[in-house]
Amino acid sequence: MAESQDPLELRIQNLTKTYKNGVKALDGVSLVIPRGLYGLLGPNGAGKSTLMRTIATLQEPDSGTIRFGGIDVLAQKEEVRKLLGYLPQDFGVYPRVSAEEMLDHLALLKGITHGKERREVVHAMLHRVNLWEHRRKALTGFSGGMRQRFGIAQALLAEPRLLIVDEPTAGLDPGERNRFYNLLAEIGENVVVILSTHIVQDVMELCRNMAIIHQGRVLFAGSPDAAVEGLAGRVWTRGVARDQVEDYKARMPVISHKLVGGQPQIHVLADAAPEPGFTAIRPDLEDVFFAHIAGLGAR
Ligand code: ADP
Repeated sequence: MAESQDPLELRIQNLTKTYKNGVKALDGVSLVIPRGLYGLLGPNGAGKSTLMRTIATLQEPDSGTIRFGGIDVLAQKEEVRKLLGYLPQDFGVYPRVSAEEMLDHLALLKGITHGKERREVVHAMLHRVNLWEHRRKALTGFSGGMRQRFGIAQALLAEPRLLIVDEPTAGLDPGERNRFYNLLAEIGENVVVILSTHIVQDVMELCRNMAIIHQGRVLFAGSPDAAVEGLAGRVWTRGVARDQVEDYKARMPVISHKLVGGQPQIHVLADAAPEPGFTAIRPDLEDVFFAHIAGLGAR
């Protein structure tokens, strides 16, 4: 029997890409991405944008396959583009026209030629992304958060079934980030939304499924809850003196250190207290992320 696949499921198999300068940006990436919000978490340089651009049909991999439901993404680019909404990392064109004029223009390009219909679509979208009151302002004067919401509006115009947003919350202040989270959360479960980010909080707050990617490889794929559960009882912490951090790192598997109230606090991955003075803590997604990046996550 032929394998049946959810028409809204993205299957990536063994994707590789080496740039001309020798950088291996994708090193055998395989992922199954179901509908809903999917977090692609990795540090800068992990290969996220390369993967996003490849899915968005903007660049070619060296090898591998991508299927979206019945569509062969790498072979049927036009089919994909009809279903795709894409908010690139540097959505950088901010002309001196208003948000409303720009959206109207973009809607026309998308083929909504009927004037009244287009006005309705544009107005509904401006309300949806909470830019109605700013609709007459020039895009050049928009804040970072307003720009990102405008970016989502343009990406949603064609009612995509596959929405890709690349590092959307970088540079937003906490209030703007919150508004953007709410908008993404509303987009709903009947679309595949891939959210690429290096910000753990983005994934924690929004995504039911996720992957951690580093140096072009997938280090973890699953639910954030399962990822955190996998570290239960194995994360230990203590405050240390500033000049002791390197010493601890040399002696034990330190997954992260950060300042808490000005004092370095280290997190260590171990089955039992590594030394007297450590206390067990409940791991969080940040521990999972740093453990994997440090090469300590897989077990
Ligand atoms: P991320 O989005 O996770 O920051 P990228 O996909 O942008 O990662 O980059 C992955 C790696 O590929 C990095 O080392 C980056 O410097 C390199 N890279 C990205 N684009 C190019 C390019 N066009 N030519 C050469 N190297 C590139």
